[in-house]
Amino acid sequence: FIVFDKIRKQFGSNVVLDDLSFSVGSGERVTLIGPSGSGKTTILRLLMTLERPNSGTINVDGEYLFHEQRNGKLVPAGEAHIRKVRRRITMVFQHFNLFPNMRVLRNVTEAPIHVLGQSREEAETRGKELLEMVGLGDKLNAYPSQLSGGQQQRVGIARALAVDPDVLLMDEVTSALDPEIAAEVLDVLRDIARNTDVSMLLVTHAMKFARDVSNRVLMFCDGGIIEDGAPERIFNEPEHDRTRSFLRSVI
Ligand code: ATP
Repeated sequence: FIVFDKIRKQFGSNVVLDDLSFSVGSGERVTLIGPSGSGKTTILRLLMTLERPNSGTINVDGEYLFHEQRNGKLVPAGEAHIRKVRRRITMVFQHFNLFPNMRVLRNVTEAPIHVLGQSREEAETRGKELLEMVGLGDKLNAYPSQLSGGQQQRVGIARALAVDPDVLLMDEVTSALDPEIAAEVLDVLRDIARNTDVSMLLVTHAMKFARDVSNRVLMFCDGGIIEDGAPERIFNEPEHDRTRSFLRSVI
């Protein structure tokens, strides 16, 4: 469903991803782990088109993100094509990134109205459903500053789902929260994982979170993936010393 093929990404002389290839199936929930600087966030930023690869291709549900087929040849894509493919991908951020001057419901309806062209009524009906689902049906008219961190993050999740994405990206979504509050966000994500078929890619240092939400773990190291498997297998019987020492450092 998502296919990275021979992706190379470097910043100056720092090669962060080195001919990296992997794929994620539809509805799969994948956690990216690995030492600081191993390129996990870069993977998410490439999918959000906040970064471009130096070489290689990324395909999402049959469409290349940065390329288009023209006369049977793969050529760099125009902005309109990139926007179209990118629209199916959303992200939840570590620091929520809500619009502070907009009420909760408006935060959730903004993209469906202005990006997808939904009517206000349609967007509000769906927005209320999603806010109900994340346990915030009584906070529709609050401003983000009136909510706790955990509540703000749940608005962030409802907002990401409001555009009915095929791919949901999450970057350290619980690391700015107290453990107890993080647990309420985790509950919401577990429900989503169970009840939707959205593909999820998450970056986290919280291994319990990875175990609870995902069904596959990729361990990044030295520009590539050194381990790929079910959370139980990787956490209980890692194959590589690098994975073992990484896990010792985070658990
Ligand atoms: P962490 O766990 O610390 O978040 P990470 O695995 O997510 O690490 P990335 O954020 O993807 O790592 O960064 C990978 C490398 O790329 C790091 O060495 C970082 O300094 C470098 N890097 C990332 N973005 C840029 C940028 N815009 N300009 C220059 N270097 C960058």
